[in-house]
Amino acid sequence: MAKKTIEDIQVNGKTVLVRVDFNVPMEDGRITDDNRIRQAIPTLKYLLDQNAKVVCFSHLGRIKSEDDKAKNSLRVVSETLSEQLNQPVTFIPETRGETLENAIKALKTKEILMFENTRFEDIDGKRESKNDPELGRYWASLGDVFVNDAFGTAHRAHASNVGIASNIEVSVAGKLLEKEIDFLGGAIENPKRPFVAILGGAKVSDKIGVIRNLLTIADMILVGGGMSYTFLKAQGFEIGTSLVENDKIELAKSLLDEAQGKIVLPKDYKLTKEFSNEAPYRIARYDQFTPDEMGLDVGTETIEMYKELLSNAQTVVWNGPVGVFEFSNYAEGTKAICEILGNAKDTITIIGGGDSASAAINFGYEQAFTHISTGGGASLEYLEGKDLPGVSCLSDR
Ligand code: ADP
Ligand code: MG
Repeated sequence: MAKKTIEDIQVNGKTVLVRVDFNVPMEDGRITDDNRIRQAIPTLKYLLDQNAKVVCFSHLGRIKSEDDKAKNSLRVVSETLSEQLNQPVTFIPETRGETLENAIKALKTKEILMFENTRFEDIDGKRESKNDPELGRYWASLGDVFVNDAFGTAHRAHASNVGIASNIEVSVAGKLLEKEIDFLGGAIENPKRPFVAILGGAKVSDKIGVIRNLLTIADMILVGGGMSYTFLKAQGFEIGTSLVENDKIELAKSLLDEAQGKIVLPKDYKLTKEFSNEAPYRIARYDQFTPDEMGLDVGTETIEMYKELLSNAQTVVWNGPVGVFEFSNYAEGTKAICEILGNAKDTITIIGGGDSASAAINFGYEQAFTHISTGGGASLEYLEGKDLPGVSCLSDR
């Protein structure tokens, strides 16, 4: 990549500030998916092996009240991190002040400390999320070098990434950030062809930018899921009570025109009268909806079509499930994509979307993909061709 990485610098004896993305899902104070912690281990281990003194930090959730603070402490995360690193992690329940400063001064090489949720600084004035200059300067003053490994927040200019980088001499990418940029960047800058994109999910409005950008790069775009109905309606078909964005119909029309056949819509759907897993359903072609039916998944013909269209793809980027995969009856299309891509051994397969990633992981295909991005919003913006402030702020090679 064009930016410096941890392997380009000397960290021996230095205090290294590492922004990680430990914004993990929690339920009743327990971590329900530790993927983001696991993904940060290579960077942290590397720095510790190289005799750095490591100070790591992250945000967790959104913080608007004292109650949010109580629910979103990073203490449990630091305990999981300690287990995974197999070494103690000192947790400092502060985001600034003497206790934190002294703990950092007392760090020895090969030791690691983690401080409290960076968004605790948001509670009276959004200092973290609005990149308050004083906060970035302060955090930068706590170390010698900055490492950004938080891809999940790279699309935001916050004090804990851009703020620190603007106030410290050397800022580099961690291994996870590097991997994300290598895979996603490789796919959109210089893809092995044919390059097929699969775009699903709930809303067209979330994905317009991606469709637009990928239309200029991909050889084919398979559009499925909740956003496909807006495209069907744009062509004048009855879509019953399916999800639709009426204010995006004109846009869908012009995208279809621009695409000149590159956009491929499902051939058939699973239709039902109720948004639930219990109601009966039928499979019907895209032009056979009755006014009281909604489509919640793609049908068998579409799955066959996906097999065929994906069979010689060399690069596939997938963003957004093609059905309501949370309901077992409507998970088939999404599972089929996991299976097709999972078995495409010589194809570069990349998932860049929060829900598609969790679908693939939950269905047992985590190891089958070339790369599953840790950043939903960030990967979306990257695929849109946008600049990621958390990456641009790093030192050039
Ligand atoms: P990602 O996080 O992978 O980018 P999105 O957030 O855009 O994906 O969309 C995920 C959601 O889309 C899921 O909750 C899924 O239930 C919903 N979805 C997919 N297909 C349909 C459909 N046909 N009708 C309604 N919702 C759908
Ligand atoms: Mg999502």
